[in-house]
Amino acid sequence: MDSARRDLTTLPKAHLHLHLAGAMRPATLMELAATQGRRLPPELLDPAGARLDVTARRGWSRFQRLYDAAREVLVGPQEVRRLVSEIAQDERAAGSGWVEVQVDPSSYAARLGGLAAGVEVVLDAMAAASADTGVGMALIVAANRTRHPGEAETLARVARRFAGVGVVGFGLSNDETRGRPEEFAKAFRIAREAGLLSVPHAGELRGTRSVVGAVEALHADRLGHGVRAVEDPATMALLAARGVVLEVCPASNVALGVAGAVELVPVRQLRAAGVPVALGADDPLLFRSGLLEQYAAVRDQQGLADEALAGLAADAVRGSAAPTPRRAALLAGIDAWLAAPPAPRTATSPA
Ligand SMILES: [Zn+2]
Repeated sequence: MDSARRDLTTLPKAHLHLHLAGAMRPATLMELAATQGRRLPPELLDPAGARLDVTARRGWSRFQRLYDAAREVLVGPQEVRRLVSEIAQDERAAGSGWVEVQVDPSSYAARLGGLAAGVEVVLDAMAAASADTGVGMALIVAANRTRHPGEAETLARVARRFAGVGVVGFGLSNDETRGRPEEFAKAFRIAREAGLLSVPHAGELRGTRSVVGAVEALHADRLGHGVRAVEDPATMALLAARGVVLEVCPASNVALGVAGAVELVPVRQLRAAGVPVALGADDPLLFRSGLLEQYAAVRDQQGLADEALAGLAADAVRGSAAPTPRRAALLAGIDAWLAAPPAPRTATSPA
């Protein structure tokens, strides 16, 4: 049966899983690299996107090297401002009304004048880009789980200084096979006591233990990925009971070997178990696939109907840190999108 298909561009969205350098336009990366006389790894230039298997031994370090090579071109505040401005434009074009961008400030501290100064540069750029485009933007400060937990605690104190003025969450990223969630409990306590959302990555390269650790020890409000929770009904029940939102990134899962194909990314199973799912793009630069493409992929590859797609969009808005008026406007927009009749298909209209 062919269900109604509305234009996904006009579906109001919140984008909750997006890394700063990973959101760069390929053309911007190439232009900056050329200006700076840098050679880029060929995988970053492939229009089909990078294909890696991060589940293989040393797989993550290959991915991390690509990401680091892209980040190298962000040499100062000017480049960060340009990147953030282009992110806002791209998100507006994809129908996003709210975007939360993750950054590990320690990766930029040397270039931007320190940890707190680096956060200020990004927040100033976000305020300007938001004013220009109307897209609400906020920052998630993310710690690197392969570093000493003390560094995460330092970052949590930096994040705390900007709680309520642009920083909305605290994350944990990098190689999940290194650094158990429990080791970062103190850092997350500092962040949560400041009112920040707990949004660690978990359940991408590791299964139940990592997911439960992030929920119990870090009191996760959301999980980056979390897809491996599907392996255990009790883990899904825990996520559903706590209302933990999973930031599921289909293109990333496929490109990195976490899922064999978009069909196998467990969007349906998670939602059927009562777990809220917010689609995210993770690193559009590396996977050549933005937020709109994630919605299109689950529609086309998993057969999700418009009602389910609207449900995913609403899950993202409810799981976001967007201020109440913006949340209400986005949710009302999603209802209106679904209430409007789909455009009739004609011979000339795209499928
Ligand atoms: Zn991520």
